[in-house]
Formats: sequence, structure tokens, C-alpha cells
Amino acid sequence: MDFRKLPPVRDQIMKCVRCGKCRSVCPVFTEIRNETVSPRGHVFMVQMLRDNNVDPNSKVYEKIGSCLMCETCSVNCPSGIDVHELNAAARTYIYQNNPTMSKELIFDTLWTNPSLLKTSTFFMWGAQKTGIQKLARSLKLTKVLPGDLSKAEEILSDVPLFSAKSELSAVNKPKGQKRFTVGYFLGCATDLLNPNVAKATVEVLTQNGCEVIIPNNIKCCGLPQIANGKLDTARKLSAHNIKIFNSYDFDYIITDCASCSSALSKKHFEFLLGGLKIEDEAFKFAEKVIDLTKFLIDILDIKPPENGNTPKYKVTYHDPCHLANAQGIKNQPRELLKRTPGVEFVEMGIANRCCGGSGTYALTHYDLSMKILDKKMDSAMETGADKIATCCPSCTMQLKYGIKRHKWKADIVHPVELLNNSYQKAVSNL
Ligand code: SF4
Ligand code: SF4
Repeated sequence: MDFRKLPPVRDQIMKCVRCGKCRSVCPVFTEIRNETVSPRGHVFMVQMLRDNNVDPNSKVYEKIGSCLMCETCSVNCPSGIDVHELNAAARTYIYQNNPTMSKELIFDTLWTNPSLLKTSTFFMWGAQKTGIQKLARSLKLTKVLPGDLSKAEEILSDVPLFSAKSELSAVNKPKGQKRFTVGYFLGCATDLLNPNVAKATVEVLTQNGCEVIIPNNIKCCGLPQIANGKLDTARKLSAHNIKIFNSYDFDYIITDCASCSSALSKKHFEFLLGGLKIEDEAFKFAEKVIDLTKFLIDILDIKPPENGNTPKYKVTYHDPCHLANAQGIKNQPRELLKRTPGVEFVEMGIANRCCGGSGTYALTHYDLSMKILDKKMDSAMETGADKIATCCPSCTMQLKYGIKRHKWKADIVHPVELLNNSYQKAVSNL
């Protein structure tokens, strides 16, 4: 891959007028206040890489790698520069010049193989349940983990035993009159870490007249690979998933994960697959992809059951960057919460600000990630909510860690889980 030929590198760098608007909104720059980690600094650095004025070495990767890929700068740039895409392109270029065994193993071998990924989650569950994790912590064995991983391994606690796929049928018939046939892109994080979200998704969709099909052998959407400098691997994963879904005749392709829906969007494919043979097939696939909350509100216009016995929850909402910034989806999750019986919705002060989770970021930049998380938790706690709703497994994991860290009694949920509760309640009231 020649990174100089990628559309953002080829077409966008010269559009930067150095206005600094991006700096004023960047969560990382807010904490570090150093131009080399600001979005404007990234644009300048990519320009220097392109012109061979700096070497693609690990020091440059460190600066570029401090970015959360939250896209806040990109949506606020008056020149329309996709800073996060420039950053992803640069990461790949630098990584190609400095490959590492550990990344090959994690992002090429493990994360591209669903059964290996599942097996590793099983081992994590086993380590938790047998107390090995606790023992390793108390003996300080986790201190030997590289980088910030020794501090961050606690974020990965609470791994469930059963994946969603092991409990869900491949074909789920609609309840009542059929309205649509939908393919469910069950992403690896929802499948392995939040199976209850997947079950609620299938339940709510079938309750609303959808036949839900979960194709076999879906692989990762490719976003973790892009964030870690593995663009070629992400291309292969996308091509694999596109072929599987295009072999069906779905009305829509649904996902409940913000990262997956952004990774499967046309905008993203223009960056990843633009100009390649698979481009048309990718766009055909992307036209059908829709985030679950958008589908429930804009297409199905759902009317949840009236059930006065539903417990009253005070719920606030955290905007995942890949939903709010990458896709402009802000209203639908809130609307879904407001339509759910028993939910009292309360807006937090900085809902549309990154929580610092960003996939593997909290594992590689623990201290910085925690500073960003603490601001989010302060804002959420001010609302006095019982629950924080969000639509991204990475945010869910980070926010769960946030409530532990702040010793706050609240739950982290996907809006669809609360909606599903109200359906279950309605059934039990019959
Ligand atoms: S907001 Fe856009 S144009 Fe302004 S400095 Fe940042 S990248 Fe450049
Ligand atoms: S993507 Fe987010 S963290 Fe990265 S430079 Fe832009 S605003 Fe900052």
C-alpha cells in the first residue's frame, strides 16, 4: 500500500489553513497541550512524512498514536479535512516500516479468527472465575505486562462465559406480520462481551416484525486493525464480510455497535476501499447498513408497550464518537430512551465528548485515557442518573470501569436493553 496515494493524503493536506479550530475541541490536546499531539500537528506531521522530511519511526508513531480517532476534529474542521483518516494512513505507513510480532499476532492472527477470539475470551473468563487473575494481581504478576497494560488489565474484567452467537439462532422469525428481512452484523465485542445487548436486539427486532438472520462466519469489522496501523488487514476483513452479506437479499443490515456501523459505512469504505475492484460491491453493501437506534426510530417508528409497572429509571446518555461524530446519529438513541416506558431521560453536560475508551486506547494510554474518562464521569454523576446508556461496546467497557473507579452505583446499558425490558415486562403482565 502506498500511503501517499490514499485519498486523504493525496487530496486533503494542502487544505489545512492552520486555523486551530481542531485544537480547541480535541480531548487529547486539552490534556497534553502540546502541538505535536494536536490534530493540526498531525496534519503537519503527515505532510512531513509524505515529503520524506521525517522518518517513519516509532517516535513519530507515538505522537500519531496518541490520537483517539474520535473524529471530533474532523467534524469541526472548516476545511473539511478528515484528520482521523490522515492519522490512520500515517499509522499504517509507519507500522509497515516498524512491524512488531505482538501486533501481527493480535491483529492479524487472533482478531481475524472468530474462533480463536472466542477461545481467548473463554480463557479470560476462566482466569477471572478461578481467581487466577486476582492471584496474579496480588502477586503483582500483572506488573510484568508491557506498557500500561498492568494498570489497564482491570478494564477487561467481567467477561461473560457464553457468547451471544452460542445462544442465538441463525434465523429468528418475526413475531406477528413480517415487515422486513434484516441481516444482523453481530460484531465481535457485542458477541463476546455484551451478549445481553445482542439478545435484546434480536428480541426487539422480532417483536417489531423483522426476520433477523445472523450470517455464519462474520469477522471483525476491521476498525481495531485500522487504529493499529493494519489497513491491509482491515481491507481483507471488509472484503470477507461484504461478500457474506451480499450473498443474501436483506432489506437492511443492522448493527447495535457504533464502531461497526461506522466501519461499514460508505464514508469509511471510500477511505478504505476507494478505487479498488471491490468498491461497487462495498457501496452496495453499505447502502443497506443502518445503526439499530436509527432503524428503530426512523424506519420502524416503534411504539413500545404501555406498562405502568415498569420500574422508573433516571437515564443519561453518552454519545459514542463513532455514532455522533462519524455518522451524525445523536437524536435517535435519545428518542429511543424517551419512548421507553419507565425511563426518565436526563442530559449530561458533556455527552458528546469522547470517554477515552476508543477500543484498545485505554490499554495502551492508560493515564491519559483515565483523565479523559474522569471528566466524563463527573459530568454523568452530576445528573444523578441510575444508568448511563450508550451504543458502543468500547464505551460500555470504559464507562463500566469509570463507575468502579468512582465507586458510583449505576449501570451501563445499551438503550435496546431498556426497551427490551419493557417488552418483557409487558409479556409478564399479560
Ligand atoms: S481545523 Fe482543519 S484547517 Fe483548521 S488547523 Fe485544524 S485541520 Fe487545519
Ligand atoms: S481524532 Fe480526536 S483525539 Fe484525534 S486529533 Fe482529532 S479530536 Fe484529537
